[in-house]
Amino acid sequence: MKVKVVVNGYGTIGKRVADAITKQDDMELIGVTKTRPSYQAKMAVDKGYPLYVSGKGVKDDFIKAGIKVDGRLEDILESADIVVDTTPEKIGKENKDIYLKYSDLKAIWQGGEKASIADASFNALVNYEAAFGKKFVRVVSCNTTALCRTLYAIHKNFDISHITAVIVRRASDPAETEKGPINSLEPSLKVPSHHGPDVQSVMGNIDIETMAIKAPTTLMHLHSVIVTCKKKGVTVSDIISAFESTERIRLFNGWEHIFGTAQIMEFAKDNAFYRGDMMENGVWSDGINIIGSKIYYYQAVHQESIVIPENIDAIRSMFELEKDKYKSMRITDESLGILKNIK
Ligand code: NAD
Repeated sequence: MKVKVVVNGYGTIGKRVADAITKQDDMELIGVTKTRPSYQAKMAVDKGYPLYVSGKGVKDDFIKAGIKVDGRLEDILESADIVVDTTPEKIGKENKDIYLKYSDLKAIWQGGEKASIADASFNALVNYEAAFGKKFVRVVSCNTTALCRTLYAIHKNFDISHITAVIVRRASDPAETEKGPINSLEPSLKVPSHHGPDVQSVMGNIDIETMAIKAPTTLMHLHSVIVTCKKKGVTVSDIISAFESTERIRLFNGWEHIFGTAQIMEFAKDNAFYRGDMMENGVWSDGINIIGSKIYYYQAVHQESIVIPENIDAIRSMFELEKDKYKSMRITDESLGILKNIK
């Protein structure tokens, strides 16, 4: 039997999660929601996704716009096994009271919500098992997801003692023209930033401090990471091997002429990744170095898509559809066309 999934909030993350669900043999998309008519609402209907009205939305507004709706969110939740909440930050928390009315309904929230909303904060590679059979799970943010992936690869092999990471955040997603800054770099004056504790919500008591800067770009985030390990004698090629053999990390070499986030986005489009998405961490192999006991590396993070495979694995874990995290990730990655061949 397939797990019946509703995606509440058909925006940047929601539309991608919805498409990803339709590619899984063990899941079925039974509805998506919008609050207002828009081209995206019409796109959902054109794709054959049952559309429901959510939040303060009014059904008549959709009908006037000529967009077919099947009812309100509450009409479909009764038939759902799980709702993936992809509404904006803090709205997800308000929605919890709605979900609690359906005793068997499970829910996933995104990184915009606090860790306390769910029974577990999730990253497939680090703690797939933590979501086994759980009712409420939070898939951590794009930045935290990316940090968890590469830090896990290093920690598993070389036993991390300390991490410092500086996060250069994209100012907004490409379509969010109302947000900024458009000509300024804005440091987060809360030092350390919230990203370190968020990594700890998945990786436990790992020693990490982070700082963050908002930059006028919409393409990707960029992390500059410095890691100290307990294991002595680690080499650059050891780190490259660790990244190469880890799921959802893609290394770029100097000869590829990928100088920054612009070329990574072009690479994703040229490789016909759907929507030009890049669901893997992009790590520059030439930018990896070891000085003394410290490992240095940079990684690029496509904020719009990196968490999509994680949402799929979270569902598989919550319903115990697959016990082995590597098998779940492989099923997900093959279905989504994440092309890297793991050795
Ligand atoms: P978004 O604004 O692009 O999409 C949210 C969608 O929810 C919109 O379609 C909006 O109309 C709809 N919505 C608003 N109020 C609603 C309500 N009451 N009920 C149902 N739908 C409602 O937001 P997003 O960027 O997709 O972010 C969603 C979540 O994912 C947030 O928690 C965010 O922090 C997290 N996240 C975002 C990114 C990113 O870079 N975009 C990356 C990782 C995680």
